[in-house]
Amino acid sequence: MREERGKLYIVATPIGNLEDITLRAIRILKSVDLIAAEDTRHTLKLLNHLGISKPLISNHRHNEDIKTNILIQKLLEGKDIALVSDAGTPGICDPGEVVIKQCIKKEIDVIPIPGACAMINGLIASGVDTREFAFLGFLPLNKKLRKEKLYKVETSQETIILYEAPHKLKSTLKDLEEVLEDRQVVLARELTKIHEEFIRGDVSEIIEKVEDLKGEIVLIIEGNKKGNIKTNFKSLSLEEHYQLYEEQGLEKKEIIKKIAKDRGLSKNEVYQKFISNE
Ligand code: SAM
Repeated sequence: MREERGKLYIVATPIGNLEDITLRAIRILKSVDLIAAEDTRHTLKLLNHLGISKPLISNHRHNEDIKTNILIQKLLEGKDIALVSDAGTPGICDPGEVVIKQCIKKEIDVIPIPGACAMINGLIASGVDTREFAFLGFLPLNKKLRKEKLYKVETSQETIILYEAPHKLKSTLKDLEEVLEDRQVVLARELTKIHEEFIRGDVSEIIEKVEDLKGEIVLIIEGNKKGNIKTNFKSLSLEEHYQLYEEQGLEKKEIIKKIAKDRGLSKNEVYQKFISNE
């Protein structure tokens, strides 16, 4: 008989307003043996507010691999663990994924405890189409990866949601201006907090309105309904151009056809260029 294993609860916590935590989340935090937190000092403040006292173990990006082994061991010993991050839903641009994947491998139950998540709350109040959307997290700093993600933002027909830190907002908006034309953008700031606000407009209007913005930010961007594309494909290397389409799941033949069209070349010329680059 398999000995009783513990369960891993993925518990969402508030993204600002401390009232945004469910009764179930509070009950789980009270009942588990251990809480794994992104930053134990941060979580301690929430636990004090809720009157909960529990052993805490840190589980942040830089120690996730080591801490995962410890957490798995405890779960195998039958301990129940709640995983929380600093704010919102663990695993959404926050640690969580590593331990969750290991639990699944070891057949340990993983139980989501729903609650606040900045991207969902930014989206639902944005007024932008909510039927289909893609969450792209933060834009990467690496130039090549950033270009690829911006291309996704440019071509995606569904609503796009991005996270951004205030000190990087200006450069992100400038990059978005290069690809967005007049698409509607909503900047959702300080959600659930005293200074919560929604700034709406096209990207150039937003840039004018957001001199020196502070606080936490979600960007919600209308999908590319008109199908217009501004990317200057010639600024991409042939390999980068190929990769863009490959990541969209296109077959080689289709990719060559599209590259030829984008760069104003014949399909044969594109083949020749690939061959000479090999
Ligand atoms: N796990 C979190 C969630 O469920 O939304 C996200 C964590 S991620 C490290 C932090 C980013 O989420 C911030 O840079 C910001 O883009 C967004 N964010 C978090 N709280 C927010 C809030 N109250 N208002 C607006 N954006 C927020």
